[in-house]
Amino acid sequence: MNFKIENVRIVDASQDTTGSVVISDGKISEIREFSVPFPTKILIPGAVDPHVHFRDPPDDLETAAEDFFSGSSAAAAGGVTTIFEMPNTNPPVFSAEILSQKHAIAAQKSIVRWGLFFGASGENLSEISKISSVPGVKLYANDTTGKLLVAQESAWRELFQLGKKIVVHAEGETFLRLAEIWKSENFPCALHLAHTARAIEVSKIRELKTKTSQISAEVAPHHLFFTESDVDGGWLRMKPELGIESDRDALWDGIFDGTIDFLASDHAPHPISKKNSKTPAFGVPGAQFSLPLILSEWLRRGWDLRRFVEFTSLRAAELFGISRGKISVGADADLALIDFENQKKISELQNFSRCGWTSYSNFKIPVVEKTWIGGVCVFQNQKIVAGDFRAGEEIFSEKSSG
Ligand SMILES: [Zn+2]
Repeated sequence: MNFKIENVRIVDASQDTTGSVVISDGKISEIREFSVPFPTKILIPGAVDPHVHFRDPPDDLETAAEDFFSGSSAAAAGGVTTIFEMPNTNPPVFSAEILSQKHAIAAQKSIVRWGLFFGASGENLSEISKISSVPGVKLYANDTTGKLLVAQESAWRELFQLGKKIVVHAEGETFLRLAEIWKSENFPCALHLAHTARAIEVSKIRELKTKTSQISAEVAPHHLFFTESDVDGGWLRMKPELGIESDRDALWDGIFDGTIDFLASDHAPHPISKKNSKTPAFGVPGAQFSLPLILSEWLRRGWDLRRFVEFTSLRAAELFGISRGKISVGADADLALIDFENQKKISELQNFSRCGWTSYSNFKIPVVEKTWIGGVCVFQNQKIVAGDFRAGEEIFSEKSSG
């Protein structure tokens, strides 16, 4: 099937131009550059969101507030075309067998491309060494949802020595300690810090980047828009908890100078009953609104849109070894069209996450008009139009799986 996306501003990391993009058989076949006066629609590569929790299979069937279909629908409605799902599902992804069970669920339900993280249990080194075709191995060095904590330094060392890409949940002092151990082992694996949240973490990453290219970091939208003074009951409780203003400023500075590599939503769609509680579940949903929220703020700051595409798709694609994040001839047509004429308050938009709530109700964003995956339109007119289409698993290059 052939079609054209006409009279738009076309932006990726290497171009910011206007014209039309021609799609043939799921791939970009031509980019026609011509002057479009005052373009109101921006076409960008679909976002890569390398950190979501779709909780499928769920911890508890009765309160299940998401699955791969609803979660991937939320992602598609937010211009996201690839997600990586975290291993703290039930049971945790500690073996090849559990990974393949989850693989079947994603293949059956996901309307965006996907990858599945493997989990480190502290006792599954032989399983980890056998595993391939995953974006990386998730190490929980601090407590979170599920029983995945690995706190022993000896276990960290053994894991590093396998040479696999490690995505680590390590907060503040724990991250500094873990980074020192990794450094003392002479950077034996790629190390990626999930949801960077504190100024001291940003400084440490900045310092490590002068010594090795093996370090990278992501940031979640809630740490960029809120601080601890916004916490009211359980709604804005998450791990890591919100920081103070100087933390938030350090995160934006880290984005600007490239210390922080990419955006990741850390989408955590807990049911309302578990958030509105004296012992709230940790995390907030974010897959649907992260991209337009950050885009809005990016433009308010007058930052270069080509860097925005690096931050929301290209850099993550490069780090995890998948071929995404470009609008170029021959690339898969994984695209998002955003309409600047149409700005809406988030509360006016349909929330496609089954959890049914968001922390950003009062924020105003440019509306995502359409999302395509391999040339298939999965979202338009504020509706999921994927039908029977299901997107496949991403293929990871050798580099990323170690
Ligand atoms: Zn997470």
